[in-house]
Amino acid sequence: MRILLIEDDPLLGEGLQASLQLEGYAVDWLQDGETAWAALRTDTFDLLVLDLGLPGLPGLELLQRLRRQENDVPVLILTARDAPADRVAGLDQGADDYLVKPFDIDELAARLRALLRRRGGRRSPVLSHGPVELDPARHEVRLRGKPVALPRREFSLLHLLLEHAGQVVSRSRLQEALYGWEDDVESNTLEVYIHHLRRRLGRDLIQTVRGVGYMVPGESG
Ligand code: CA
Repeated sequence: MRILLIEDDPLLGEGLQASLQLEGYAVDWLQDGETAWAALRTDTFDLLVLDLGLPGLPGLELLQRLRRQENDVPVLILTARDAPADRVAGLDQGADDYLVKPFDIDELAARLRALLRRRGGRRSPVLSHGPVELDPARHEVRLRGKPVALPRREFSLLHLLLEHAGQVVSRSRLQEALYGWEDDVESNTLEVYIHHLRRRLGRDLIQTVRGVGYMVPGESG
């Protein structure tokens, strides 16, 4: 899962990027509104963490533009502005959640998981498919109830495919979710990760859709 973090405070931005990477996300961090707007027009993100007081383009204006373009990426506003009127404005402009600084990193992580759940139309915190279960809060994958250790990117890849079970997820979408701008992408790594996941969790879990991407088949009861 890939997050765009828009935060102009360098210390906070750096700390947040590191913490969210530890949570397993690919995190791109930008410090001003205009650059972020440009990135949002070319790249796909799973979540947006948005400060309001930003140089260039203020956070609220960026949010308005985003929703006007019918970009429905889940947005969490993270700001020092704690007046009820600011919260109301943020939520009414299309934010999905609002957290006031100073905040607890575990609470932020839990709220981001909740946003991903809502986006996927889920209530259960655990994603499951046949004998495979993925628990985002515990960073755990289980096969028939037994934990299977997965490296960060394989976990992330499986998470995205399970969120979209029954739909084909394109190669480019998967690549985008796995890598931030700072990571080098080798063209065949996606295949390698898929191969590893099948070996660990069963050949039939992930189907290749030739020329398009991959899918976890929808469950038929
Ligand atoms: Ca700020």
